[in-house]
Amino acid sequence: MDFNTPLQYIKGIGEARSKCFSKLGLSCAGDLLTFYPRTYEYRGETKKIADVCDGEVCSLILTVDSPVKTGGGKVQYIKFTAGDDTGTVNITFFNQKWLLKVFSQGRAFRFYGKVSFGFYGKEMVSPEVEPILHGKKLCDVVPIYPLTKGLSQKTVTSAVNNVLALADSVKDVLPEEIRKKYALLKAGEAIKMLHHPADRSEVAKAKRTLAFEELVVFQTALRISRRGKVKSTGIKMSFKNSGVKQFFESLPFSLTGAQEKSVKEILGDMCGDTPMTRLLQGDVGSGKTAVAAAAVYFAVKNGYQCAFMAPTEILASQHAKTLDKMLSPFGIKVGLLTGGLTKKQRTLLQARLSEGAIDVAVGTNALIQNSVEYHNLGLVITDEQHRFGVMQRARLTEKGGSGSVKPHMLVMSATPIPRTLSLILYGDLDISVLDELPPGRQKVDTYLVGSDKRERVFKMIRSRIEAGNQAYIICPLVEENEESDKQSAEGYAEAMRRGSFSDINIGMLHGKMTPSEKEEIMRSFSKGDTKILVSTTVVEVGVDVPNATVILIENAECFGLSQLHQLRGRVGRGKDKSMCVLMSDHAYGKTENRLKIMCETNDGFAIAAADLDQRGPGDFFGEKQSGVLAFKVASAADMNMLEAAKKLSEELFDKGLESYPVLYQKASVIASGNERGNKIS
Ligand code: ADP
Ligand code: MG
Repeated sequence: MDFNTPLQYIKGIGEARSKCFSKLGLSCAGDLLTFYPRTYEYRGETKKIADVCDGEVCSLILTVDSPVKTGGGKVQYIKFTAGDDTGTVNITFFNQKWLLKVFSQGRAFRFYGKVSFGFYGKEMVSPEVEPILHGKKLCDVVPIYPLTKGLSQKTVTSAVNNVLALADSVKDVLPEEIRKKYALLKAGEAIKMLHHPADRSEVAKAKRTLAFEELVVFQTALRISRRGKVKSTGIKMSFKNSGVKQFFESLPFSLTGAQEKSVKEILGDMCGDTPMTRLLQGDVGSGKTAVAAAAVYFAVKNGYQCAFMAPTEILASQHAKTLDKMLSPFGIKVGLLTGGLTKKQRTLLQARLSEGAIDVAVGTNALIQNSVEYHNLGLVITDEQHRFGVMQRARLTEKGGSGSVKPHMLVMSATPIPRTLSLILYGDLDISVLDELPPGRQKVDTYLVGSDKRERVFKMIRSRIEAGNQAYIICPLVEENEESDKQSAEGYAEAMRRGSFSDINIGMLHGKMTPSEKEEIMRSFSKGDTKILVSTTVVEVGVDVPNATVILIENAECFGLSQLHQLRGRVGRGKDKSMCVLMSDHAYGKTENRLKIMCETNDGFAIAAADLDQRGPGDFFGEKQSGVLAFKVASAADMNMLEAAKKLSEELFDKGLESYPVLYQKASVIASGNERGNKIS
């Protein structure tokens, strides 16, 4: 067995189970070795019955102190009481009659599970049980792995155990003297420890080593991918004959101070000797598009093409329209290149792009496909950058220039990323911040209500519509899957049309629609023909319809704070007072506190910080985007190590990566664009 041995040949897996494992993204022994527990059950930390709270999940050492009763019809149960010196607990198991013999009076067991305070006292239903036997030590920390259909905790644990010996052949990314200096374990040791820690401190120790390695590898990859850039030359543009003043005068508003400052910084970069690499960060609604348009105008007037990449089709077509409106009066040609074009349209568009007949190509990641060629690409803009991989962005700049000449690059993000994290994602980009909203914006009033208030909310929506405004309704999230999203949106819209909104024009949008269907729905909504847009989260980013002043978010508890902030950002974009209703029947405890943050503040930075704090960066960027950060172990909690990791990677880079072959190899794989390439070897 080695790292590449296919899983089906691992003892205890076989052909059928290996298919289940592949659903978890695991195909070989090495994958399994680095498939870490999602969490742990600390069964060694036992409690006394008297100290347990209602609903607490805990470990208790109890002696059976009653005869076992059985009963039931179709569903059989066994029941008994067990206690320690502070109390007793009623214990029930269903359909496990064979346990009858196990629980004889006077025997002691360790029970792990949830304790509830019921009518007849404290109770546990189907807890995990382990007999207390003399001379046999129980496992104090039980690893809990992510599962999928067809795999049980037991199967995964034993499969992992069967490859654990491979940990001894894992090569260390960092040599011993450096590991000593930073108090790190050997990688193999840390991997074993993470699968089978003795206690909490070992979990922390193992994670620290593996997270630090990941951070160093990632930082080194960033350095490698930038190595070319340091030497590269920029496309020197100039203000001569660009007539930027005319452009500003043509806008229906005057720029905010923050917009002006950012434009100045951006255009200044574009006149410099090195390529611009700048991040434009601004909260939802701060007016990033106008700033980007100024940069596009400037580049085109200097004789260059621009590529403008957006994360979704909806957003791409909206940007194309906005840019066209702003720029076509100056003779600038905007083209939209998305996955939704027919082959013929696409060929035509690409031809016009490569001969320079189109000045600005707006699109999704269709823009970075190999077949797309530019005539003279001078500026690359990516919107909502955090949704793209760092290396994907790098690929777009590869498209432009020739030899060492590289196009300018502007990345925009509405997700106010805490500084530590932006360091990882953006490395050493220059940053412009739009810390000021356009004048006249009002706070979006946000309310948290239960579904019993739905009729009242509907009434309020109706009165807004009668006053000439529009509304979004974000449908309940069934599962993270396009098919069920579709059903949920269709069902919801249908119920509204049949119910009290039969006289109102309702549009519906979900992820399964074709790009042209989506575009049609969006067009009708932005024109004001459709009054209510029932949608899944596909409208999450960037969509701009200022006349919409209410957003109702169903099942608000299913969303992360940053996502809710993005969704809420769809309203409050015009001069009218706007409102956001978070509907949830599960808002208590932690969830309530989380959702209340939304009611208390509109400040994206405060929200992002709270979100990151609660969920860690993987979730912070949403499940689907987690590939952005190719980390298996590192999380928000490790960001305090980031500075050290960055410094170390610089040091090693300067000494010459050839002396650190494992680091060099791993970082090169990631730098070459294969972000999922952080495989073990
Ligand atoms: P975001 O930063 O979220 O991408 P947009 O660029 O979509 O924001 O801008 C939000 C709205 O604000 C748009 O309708 C835009 O026309 C408007 N807007 C942008 N800048 C200004 C400004 N300086 N004054 C008034 N309205 C503005
Ligand atoms: Mg935007």
